[in-house]
Amino acid sequence: MRIEEGVKLDFKDVLIRPKRSTLVSRKDVDISREFKFRWSGRTFRGVPVIAANMDGVGTMAMARAFLKDGNGLTVAVHKHYPLQELLDFYNRKTVLASWYSIGMTESDEKKFESFMKKKPGLIDKICLDVANGYSEAFVDFVKRVRERHPGLTIMAGNVVTGEMVEQLILAGVDVVKVGIGPGSVCTTRKMTGIGYPQLSAVIECADAAHGLGGLICADGGCTVPGDIAKAFGGGADFVMLGGMFAGHDQSEEKVVEKDGKKYVVFYGMSSDTAMKRHKGGVAEYRASEGKTVKIHYRGDVADTLQDILGGLRSACTYVGAKKLKELSKRTTFIRVSQQLNTVFGGE
Ligand code: 5GP
Repeated sequence: MRIEEGVKLDFKDVLIRPKRSTLVSRKDVDISREFKFRWSGRTFRGVPVIAANMDGVGTMAMARAFLKDGNGLTVAVHKHYPLQELLDFYNRKTVLASWYSIGMTESDEKKFESFMKKKPGLIDKICLDVANGYSEAFVDFVKRVRERHPGLTIMAGNVVTGEMVEQLILAGVDVVKVGIGPGSVCTTRKMTGIGYPQLSAVIECADAAHGLGGLICADGGCTVPGDIAKAFGGGADFVMLGGMFAGHDQSEEKVVEKDGKKYVVFYGMSSDTAMKRHKGGVAEYRASEGKTVKIHYRGDVADTLQDILGGLRSACTYVGAKKLKELSKRTTFIRVSQQLNTVFGGE
């Protein structure tokens, strides 16, 4: 047994210090990024915020809304759509706003390969998601997909430490997904004791990835636009959001009314609800269980998008970052919590 004494931080443990700035208005800030992916060689341009591959979030309706919005946000389309629906959905336009998601199951891989045969060359980016990004089987899976599809941009995870980020990048991953335990409907920390404070995970993993010409996506734990700014400030290239995009018209979920208020059910992808819904499925998503919550119905996602993008622009203005790319360089975090290493996260 070993105890690591170093301070590890979550989003709530810090604030970003304002800095002298020559920017006049938040309108002057460019919050899109341009990346060239290490392995696929493809380029990305847009706001690097991704809707998580979860029911109620990573939907086709969400991808269409992001396309309409025009800022270049993307959706990791959840893996539970039937093949035919995926074939109908993907075209030259929708592909721009979508990551095709798969887990490490035979049926996911089969469905994906059938899709690739039926629509060769259409998809440009995929998201590989497993319960445990630390397993050797996952590294082999990544290598296999990379070998078969050299031109695809691969995002894969989740992990929280630099050495595993490096191993995944060397195995063929373009964007490593970072986060174990911080999700809003995740109970991993409670059920297993496993986790890592998310801001520190982002800072450490970004450093490891950038050293190898790779990228990271901070996944989970953002509850307000300020958290997204902190993730980018900590070095994240992409930020993935679940709960913040849930409960909208685009969630493809039923809106229920109780006592004059409207609600939508939102649940983790390894929760009982998800298991029941996708029956036959096992809890192979993320390390351990998820929970089911009722959240307020929030209407069209367009308003939420405005809040998120506005918050991000404003954060850049406060530190004098004319482009999102500069935010991390101009970020000084102030520690505001007294307790060390208190893990809050999802619950
Ligand atoms: P949020 O933005 O809601 O805080 O976090 C979203 C992330 O939570 C997802 O992208 C995914 O990584 C994670 N997640 C989603 N469902 C589950 C689940 O059932 N269990 C766990 N452990 N994590 C989940």
